[in-house]
Amino acid sequence: MKPLKILLAAPRGFCAGVDRAIQIVEEALSKWGAPVYVRHEIVHNHHVVSRLEDMGAVFVEELDECPDDRPVVFSAHGVPKAVPAAASARDMVFVDATCPLVSKVHVEAERHHKSGREIVLIGHAGHPEVIGTMGQLPDGAMTLIETVEDVSAFTPKDATNLAFVTQTTLSVDDTAEIVEALQARFPEISAPHKEDICYATTNRQEAVKVMAERADLFLVIGAETSSNSKRLVEVAVRAGSDDARLVASAENVDWDWFDGVETLGLTAGASAPEDLVQGLIAACRARYDITVEEVTLIGLLGSKRLRPINAIRDRRIPSTCERALHLCDF
Ligand code: SF4
Repeated sequence: MKPLKILLAAPRGFCAGVDRAIQIVEEALSKWGAPVYVRHEIVHNHHVVSRLEDMGAVFVEELDECPDDRPVVFSAHGVPKAVPAAASARDMVFVDATCPLVSKVHVEAERHHKSGREIVLIGHAGHPEVIGTMGQLPDGAMTLIETVEDVSAFTPKDATNLAFVTQTTLSVDDTAEIVEALQARFPEISAPHKEDICYATTNRQEAVKVMAERADLFLVIGAETSSNSKRLVEVAVRAGSDDARLVASAENVDWDWFDGVETLGLTAGASAPEDLVQGLIAACRARYDITVEEVTLIGLLGSKRLRPINAIRDRRIPSTCERALHLCDF
């Protein structure tokens, strides 16, 4: 068999917010029995959603699809204020699984609004988190900016009374460019006290950056609908990987991609479970003589000081620092 080196990123995969949301659905099922309704995919991962469906969760897009007499869970991405208000009006039991790091952005936006500032939200149109964040305030209070070009086209009501917040799962580098453009055009714009892009997103992108140059091919396990997974693919290409692709699981790999590949970079988005990573490694093992090198970022969370350490291993045990990083996602 041909040799294949796999560089395995750590941290990778499930973040604390996703873990928490899944646990909330599991606990709701154990407390109230099936069915428990879940508004929107609890996390962007088909495998996770299917497992919860087997346990009795019913996924719906809108609250109107839920009966009044069954509990409903709101997803980790957050919901517009109108949603819990409608559930209360119908006297429904509901549980909010919004990630605390998304709720933090909601609180910030509200604080700026109360201070009379017009708000810019940096994010992707149509993403559930963006819909939820914009839905915290009345229509017109917040303007969505997706690109540097949008910054040039934006006409605020009062250029001296602006603030910005961001989606939590953006590309750190793309967002920095947009923020720079905003601050150049509107020097008085108020910025978040602490970056809105969450630690889980930042750390997973940093881990990809330190490995990408060594990889002939980079695979990111994650769903098409997962913003943070798609950003990891972009980061891998930008940081020097010859090729980078998003795959839902080992079954979706086209093995022609591996032609001429000696080193594979591998990571998983914040909503992808570790068994999908291990499944992909097993599929590689069936075809190649593999060596797995886990590239782990350790450092001080909350500061940008992260550094890579390498450990050669071929087994499934997250390192202590991976667990520490995971716990520190909040
Ligand atoms: Fe929370 Fe970040 Fe995970 Fe989203 S990616 S659920 S904001 S920890």
